[in-house]
Amino acid sequence: MVQIAPSVRTAWGENLGLSPEFATAKRLVSALRKMGFNYIFDTDFSADLTIMEEGSEFVEKLKNAGLIPGKTKEDVGDGNSEPEKFPMFTSCCPGWVRFVKSRYPEFVGNLSTAKSPQAMFGAIAKSYYADLMGVDPNRIFCISIMPCLAKKHECDIPNINGADAGKDVDVVLTTREVVRMIRAENIIPSALKEEEFDVPLGVGSGAGEIFGATGGVMEAALRSAYFLVTGTNPDPDAFKDVRGIKGWKEATFEIAGVPLHVAVANGLSNARDLLEALKKGEVKYDFVEVMACPGGCVGGGGQPIHDRTEMAKERGQILYDLDRNNPIRFSHENPSIIKCYENYLQRPLSHRAHQLLHTDHNGWSLQDLKYGAELRTDEKSSLTDKH
Ligand code: SF4
Repeated sequence: MVQIAPSVRTAWGENLGLSPEFATAKRLVSALRKMGFNYIFDTDFSADLTIMEEGSEFVEKLKNAGLIPGKTKEDVGDGNSEPEKFPMFTSCCPGWVRFVKSRYPEFVGNLSTAKSPQAMFGAIAKSYYADLMGVDPNRIFCISIMPCLAKKHECDIPNINGADAGKDVDVVLTTREVVRMIRAENIIPSALKEEEFDVPLGVGSGAGEIFGATGGVMEAALRSAYFLVTGTNPDPDAFKDVRGIKGWKEATFEIAGVPLHVAVANGLSNARDLLEALKKGEVKYDFVEVMACPGGCVGGGGQPIHDRTEMAKERGQILYDLDRNNPIRFSHENPSIIKCYENYLQRPLSHRAHQLLHTDHNGWSLQDLKYGAELRTDEKSSLTDKH
C-alpha cells in the first residue's frame, strides 16, 4: 500500500509538463494504480490523526499548567510530575527533530510526542487497517510518497515503530523518484483520468491538506484545539494570520478568553534564531511550529527542482485552495477519523493511541542509526586531531 503526502499533489506534475490544475492527487492515484499498487491512501488522513493527538496533547498541557480550566495533574493525584514545558514544539518534521536533538538537546522535552503523519499512517495501516482487512500485518508492505529526504531517515528511527510488524513504514519515495517511476513505466501523464483514493485511510480534511505549507500544522491544530476547549467550531479561517512564507511569524489568538502566543518558523536558520531568542528570554510562546525546509514541505528536498526558482509559495497556495474547497475543514470532523477512534483507538491520548501514535524523542540517539556514524563529523575531526 502507498500513502501520498499533502505536498506531493502540489508538485508531481511540474516536470511532466502538466499544469497544477491537471496534476491533481486523483490523477496521481491513477498513475499509481497503473504501476500496480494495491491500496492507495492519503497522508491527509493521518495528518488529521496527528492533529487529534497533538491538539489534545497541547490542550492537556494547558490544563495541567492551569492556563485553561480542567483537571490538573494535582487533581488526578499526580502532584509529583514535572511542570509542563512551554512552548510545545511541533514534531512532524524529522529534519527539525533531528536539528533539536543534535544542536539544542535542552529543548527535546518541549517536542510534542505525537508522531508525524507519515509515521502515524504506517502504525495505523499495520494495526487498525490490518484488523479491518483481516490480514496479517506482516504481509503489508507500506510505502510513502513524500516531498522529503528526512522522511527516509524517520522510518529508520529505532523506536518509531508501534504496530509490532517490522517497520511501520517500509520504504519512502520522494516526489522526484515517483516522477522517474512514472516515466519508467511509460505512463502517459496527459492521458491520466482522475481516480478515487481507497477508503477509509484515503479521506482527509482541509486541515490535513494544509500540513504541507508553513503555518499549516499550527492552523490545523488550533482549529481542533479550539473545538476541544470550547465544544464549538471556530471560523475555519480564524487562525490564518500564521499563513505566508515569512521565515518567523508570531500571532496571538484567544481560546475561551485565554490568550495563546504562537510562533511559526520555516528554514533551520530561522529556527536557530527562534531557539536562541527563547534561550535568552527575549520571546515567550505557548506553541511553536517549525518546518526545516523554506516554505514548509511544499519546498521540501524531495520535490522537483527548478534551478534558481523557489516554488514553495505557489505550491502552498494550491493547498490553501484545496482546504477552502474541501467540505471538511476540521480534523475532528473527518468521518474516517471519527470511526477510527470509535472502533479502535477509543479517544485521543488513550493507551492504544499512545502505543501506536506517540514516540519518545529521548529513546534514540544519532549513533543508533545505521548511518549515524557518518554524520558525527565532530567525533571524526577529534579523532583526526589525535592522530
Ligand atoms: Fe521534510 Fe522539509 Fe517537510 Fe521537514 S519541512 S518534513 S524536512 S519536507
